[in-house]
Amino acid sequence: MASEGRTDTDTPRRIVILGAGFGGAYCAAALGKNLRGLNVEVLLIDRNNFFVFYPLLVEAGTGSLEPRHAVVPIRAFLKTAEFRMAEVVDADFDRRSITYRLVGGDDTQQIDYDELVISLGSVTRLPDVPGLREFGCQLKSLTDAVALRDRAITMLELANATDDEAKRRGLLHFVVVGGNFTGVEVAGEFDMFLRAAARKYRHVNQRDIKVTLVELGDRILAALDADLAEYAAAHMRKRGIDVRLNTTVTAIEHDRVTLSCSEQLDSRTVIWCAGIEPNPLIGAWPLPVDDRGYILCERDLRVKGIEHVWAIGDCAVNLDRDGSAYPATAQHAVQQAAHLAGNLAAVLSGRDPRPCNIKSRGALAALGCRTGVAKVFGFKLAGFGAWFLWRTVYLLKMPGLARKIRIALDWTIDLVFSRDYVQLGVHRTPREPADAAPTAGAGHNRKVAPPSGGA
Ligand SMILES: Cc1cc2nc3c(=O)[nH]c(=O)nc-3n(C[C@H](O)[C@H](O)[C@H](O)COP(=O)(O)OP(=O)(O)OC[C@H]3O[C@@H](n4cnc5c(N)ncnc54)[C@H](O)[C@@H]3O)c2cc1C
Repeated sequence: MASEGRTDTDTPRRIVILGAGFGGAYCAAALGKNLRGLNVEVLLIDRNNFFVFYPLLVEAGTGSLEPRHAVVPIRAFLKTAEFRMAEVVDADFDRRSITYRLVGGDDTQQIDYDELVISLGSVTRLPDVPGLREFGCQLKSLTDAVALRDRAITMLELANATDDEAKRRGLLHFVVVGGNFTGVEVAGEFDMFLRAAARKYRHVNQRDIKVTLVELGDRILAALDADLAEYAAAHMRKRGIDVRLNTTVTAIEHDRVTLSCSEQLDSRTVIWCAGIEPNPLIGAWPLPVDDRGYILCERDLRVKGIEHVWAIGDCAVNLDRDGSAYPATAQHAVQQAAHLAGNLAAVLSGRDPRPCNIKSRGALAALGCRTGVAKVFGFKLAGFGAWFLWRTVYLLKMPGLARKIRIALDWTIDLVFSRDYVQLGVHRTPREPADAAPTAGAGHNRKVAPPSGGA
């Protein structure tokens, strides 16, 4: 095992950041400014050399956006920090060292830290529903997004090739589980994608296509105001999306889904968007966690009871001044990242860290068909204006001018030309050992989260 530990006291102090998502990558970028004048080096570790801009993942999967444009190369993001594309495998909080394995390499390496930031995010929570791990799909990586799109096209091809109407409808029935932001956006965008794509298939009718959104609660979009959620549900139902409330899925088979009301739906595609859980590594480490396994932190973002360790983003419980946990969203992870960069600079300069007080700026959901709902800075909006705001906000939030321009071009082209309904080939059969090796995003996500199933 190689080691990258320090040998003398003159070497710079080192901050190691685990995970280059909204928390980790933004923290590393902010440290570039906060650490000016200090002899401190920053190392960011992630299994991918890109950071996934999750809010645009659904669009990347349904084709209004080139999939590559929904990710940002880490190195384009970093000015001063060093980056290692590696799988984090262990942490020793007494010795202050991290063990990782370079992606594509065999040996493990160790690196010591003075301060450690854990921002390893979350995985999709897959409860013990029979058939879910075998047949269910999820949307938590770029590979998942492309695989879902490929799957939708496979279903269209199969449906076009059969004279059996019942079979055709089963092939083109997509069931989305979970009526929060991701589930609603997946249902809305996939319904639109399937209906537009179906026009290219001579033997597929619009009435063959169905999307069912299944939600356990008594309304969708529980994090938004009730009137906006009602607008969203009414809009989706008007388009033919079957919104089922107070319902969940109790079993999934190859071609059938059983609901909690005992009804069975013919469907070959179930997309599970119902909840998250912390990165499984967290459970393997001696960290203080709540009853759901999230890392418990002090108000200044330090992990409770463990010196020199901080945690932000989806994997952590960080509390506001009223004692409520900040929601697991990108906007909160980014704000925590900026605050943490300031606190790290403070402690490394011998000053005290400050409690993290950040504000939610609002929430937006795109429903497909150029419609959305939004509540931003207390103002509510529904319809085209909310959808336009959704796109504008995420375009502005996307890091890098080049990326912004590419996305704006993708969206402009999408307004004028029809989309390409082609598969991107992630489903191909392995032909030789090198092909069988998992890709960076796919394989590792599969390792920590159970498989995305049929996709
Ligand atoms: C489809 C989808 C849409 C979303 N839309 C929105 C939205 O519109 N607005 C919003 O505010 N939030 C949205 N979210 C939520 C948001 O993406 C998360 O809250 C945010 O990404 C959390 O940031 P994070 O840094 O904690 O985790 P992440 O951004 O997930 O980053 C974690 C990083 O850790 C890396 N990692 C994990 N394990 C290892 C390991 N063992 N070794 C090496 N690297 C590892 C991962 O590769 C990843 O890069 C969405 C989420 C999804 C899935």
